[in-house]
Amino acid sequence: MTYARAPRPVTFPDALAPEARFLIRRGRVIDPAHRVDAIKDLAIAGGTVREAAETILPQRGDGVIEADGLFVLPGIIDLHCHFHDLFDVSTTPATEVVGAGTVVALTPGAGNTLMAPALLGAEVDRGLPLHVGCYIGAAAVLSTRASPEQLIAYFRGELPDTTQFQVISRNPITNATGALAIGLKDHMGHWILSDDHLEACFAITQQAQLLFMSHCQDPEHAERLARHSRGRRVLLTHATAAGSGSHGDAVASLEHVLALARDYPGVTLDFTTAHLRRSRGLRDGILIDERAQATAWDAIARGRCHLLTSDGPCNATMKGFGDARENIPCLLELAQEGVVSLLDAVAMMTVNPVRFASEATGQRWWTEELGHLGPGARANVVLVEPQAGRAVMTLVEGRIAAFEGRCVRAAHGVGGWVSRTGLRSKLGVGDLPFFQT
Ligand SMILES: [Zn+2]
Repeated sequence: MTYARAPRPVTFPDALAPEARFLIRRGRVIDPAHRVDAIKDLAIAGGTVREAAETILPQRGDGVIEADGLFVLPGIIDLHCHFHDLFDVSTTPATEVVGAGTVVALTPGAGNTLMAPALLGAEVDRGLPLHVGCYIGAAAVLSTRASPEQLIAYFRGELPDTTQFQVISRNPITNATGALAIGLKDHMGHWILSDDHLEACFAITQQAQLLFMSHCQDPEHAERLARHSRGRRVLLTHATAAGSGSHGDAVASLEHVLALARDYPGVTLDFTTAHLRRSRGLRDGILIDERAQATAWDAIARGRCHLLTSDGPCNATMKGFGDARENIPCLLELAQEGVVSLLDAVAMMTVNPVRFASEATGQRWWTEELGHLGPGARANVVLVEPQAGRAVMTLVEGRIAAFEGRCVRAAHGVGGWVSRTGLRSKLGVGDLPFFQT
């Protein structure tokens, strides 16, 4: 082959250069962490937010998203979003929440064993497009041969391998990854823990700085958790379920649970987004009583509950009360109904959950990296069309992960594993030996 002139070296177009910027222009940036609610341009590059300013002029090679008429929010942080629970055989539930604007989802399967981080972590390694972490069912942890002191050492990463092999598991992958769980989960529908085991849950989670979450529906059960807490943290999750009236009068039950958060330091509540919507919930879930919903809205308005979770998605084996698709419409409706400002509504699924997790785990990375749109934040962003009330684009680590409610392949592999001590891009489960030699 001959050339009339020397061939030019192959070069990427500027727009495809790995360090190219993305500009999200003229959107209404709602960033509660910085109390920003204004039309701004946002520049992201290298997976992080570089700047938010009134005007950022595009440079050659920039990708530009015209966000005129759209809200630009930090990606949704969901502390309670079920997928890969029990008998889930599909990763679709994990990926579809990205289309609804979720960028961090912590899955709380009561049936999760210490092997759950390895199983879900393998899915991260295979390319999930969002950041995930998981809680382990308390019964699965307490049923090991390990003492509470050994479990505390294990979750802190201080239990010798030889001891792990004797008291945690004979599987080195389980041993190496089980401690990467984000917390423990109690669930009255799966078991009723003894007093000793409840005490062990509080001791382990407090001393190993894990989250401790309990399914909240029956106020009597919730009160038992609160009485055992003695200043230690527990998240009574989807507390609006108490307002369904399944365990007594709906309003009295919800008031009872709200009083626990008021009277017991360390007890925090979250509400389910589906229950707060005008529709009062999903027809395939349980509805909140109309009067109880008014109580829940009032509690939010008075700052008695500052966290929201989805308990979803619906398209999973473990059916919760809600669905991740309800999150953004819920935030918009809370503002439209005058319950709280839009800024404060958005805070309930962005900066508030990362502050909660940061305080509970004693780790600052949560608030530094997640839940806001300031310089240095991970570029997890959701663009919301306010008329339709839904996410139209979700960016994870600066990559477009979902568009018009559908996951796109461009973001394959951008998701990472959320552990207590940080967000890691891969778990490396496939690299671990199955048997010790
Ligand atoms: Zn749940």
